[in-house]
Amino acid sequence: MLQNWDFYMHRVSKESASVIDEIVSIPMLHMTALAPELHLYVGSLDKVRKLRHQLSGLCRYLNACKKVAEAEGWHRAISKFKNKEYLLEHTDIYSVQDLVRVHMSLMVPELKDCVNEGISHVKSCSVCQGQAFICEICNQGPALFPFQVDRIWKCPKCSSVYHLICKPATTHCPRCLRLSSRRHTATEPLNVN
Ligand SMILES: [Zn+2]
Ligand SMILES: [Zn+2]
Ligand SMILES: [Zn+2]
Repeated sequence: MLQNWDFYMHRVSKESASVIDEIVSIPMLHMTALAPELHLYVGSLDKVRKLRHQLSGLCRYLNACKKVAEAEGWHRAISKFKNKEYLLEHTDIYSVQDLVRVHMSLMVPELKDCVNEGISHVKSCSVCQGQAFICEICNQGPALFPFQVDRIWKCPKCSSVYHLICKPATTHCPRCLRLSSRRHTATEPLNVN
């Protein structure tokens, strides 16, 4: 399954069947370790992966928001993931059952629903809006959130976020530049006379 995304049912012994029954719902498959490139060939897995990245970013906002109780749509959407919160908060772990649901195209719509509801809360919530980032390249709005994967450029070194359209205007991440100049000043030899 992890090698060829093959979900064909094979005959197994009774003993193996009961072992399989026990483990199917345990989230124990770390995809980056087991099959790091599988999502490049399996469209549905790639979609789920991107949605889970977005959701883990959104969860950081919603879990910390004191107005989250007002987000009815969000609570309705995440209620489908009861006891499977790892699917929303982490990006890499799956159970066998989860992969079957990805294969059957059942997971993408449910995750999408959570992403849409999460974004709609953050957009309209004064608490969450206060946690937005300002793009340091243009120093202008609109404010940014790390989960806006289609609109942002995230520095691979320091994880700061900027408008995607501002990226061509700079060759270096402003924060990295600041950090490296600070390091330079710190390591400059002291003038002892
Ligand atoms: Zn909020
Ligand atoms: Zn900008
Ligand atoms: Zn940086």
